[in-house]
Amino acid sequence: MADGIGERRVIHSALENSTLTDTHSDEINYRPVAVMPDVKVIKLGGQSIMDRGRAALFPVLDEIVKAREEGIQILVLTGGGTRARHIYTIASELEMPTGVLAAVGGYIPMQNARMVQMLLAKHGGIFMLIDDFEKLPLYIQLGCIPVMTGMPPFGYWEQRGQEGRIPPHRTDAGVFLSAEFLGARRAIFIKDEDGLYTDDPKKNSKAEYIPRISARELIERDLPDLIVERVCLEYLGRSQWVKELQVVNGLEPDQVARALRGEEAGTIIYQDG
Ligand code: ADP
Ligand code: MG
Repeated sequence: MADGIGERRVIHSALENSTLTDTHSDEINYRPVAVMPDVKVIKLGGQSIMDRGRAALFPVLDEIVKAREEGIQILVLTGGGTRARHIYTIASELEMPTGVLAAVGGYIPMQNARMVQMLLAKHGGIFMLIDDFEKLPLYIQLGCIPVMTGMPPFGYWEQRGQEGRIPPHRTDAGVFLSAEFLGARRAIFIKDEDGLYTDDPKKNSKAEYIPRISARELIERDLPDLIVERVCLEYLGRSQWVKELQVVNGLEPDQVARALRGEEAGTIIYQDG
């Protein structure tokens, strides 16, 4: 046998002898690049905006078009809403696992994204497939308004959450994770309330408005219901780029206009210093 045959070849690198499960793997520091930090990553609420139809949606789209014409870079992600809740209910009653709920529920925000793209088509609205981030620079440079589903692509691999069978990562989580990947400082949520309250203002008339709160304090307060998916708060605690979640009222187009320009509006939930 010739010398060296059968020996393990080592390409020298910091991880060459690592199992990748040891706790020292972070010797290569986590310093991700901000891929497209100037893009405003916004969610169009499913139940809160889309399901209200043109009266709610069209004024929001007008604000998006105006901001894009001013040169503001925007990525629109859509929520699911009532139709998603319907399929979650049916699939739950049929004892489907969480992964199936995530997979079938994912079609609904996709339908909403397709409709929003058509409405924006004459202003450069373009449908982006899930994780088509490689094409985002082209779309943005062409002046387009890319639209994609907010649902993250976990599908069958979605984990079960604490709140039962419903996928814990739905479209708010997808928007947050997209903003973090792109290196945006804020993830913007367009819904149908002025922001966060101490409880759901539609069910509790005594709910009080919270204009600013830290993610940690909000987790500690353990409010009965929230305007964003709970996992977003957990991720905000350790995100590299996203420092703030902003929730604005799409029924007040001025709030949308301000949010798109990076101004204060609605509620800010911020990362603890
Ligand atoms: P989306 O349309 O983006 O899916 P959701 O319908 O899931 O939005 O969430 C928005 C709704 O959350 C609001 O319409 C509001 O009624 C409700 N909500 C629940 N808890 C709160 C809270 N603590 N503060 C404000 N709104 C809340
Ligand atoms: Mg929701």
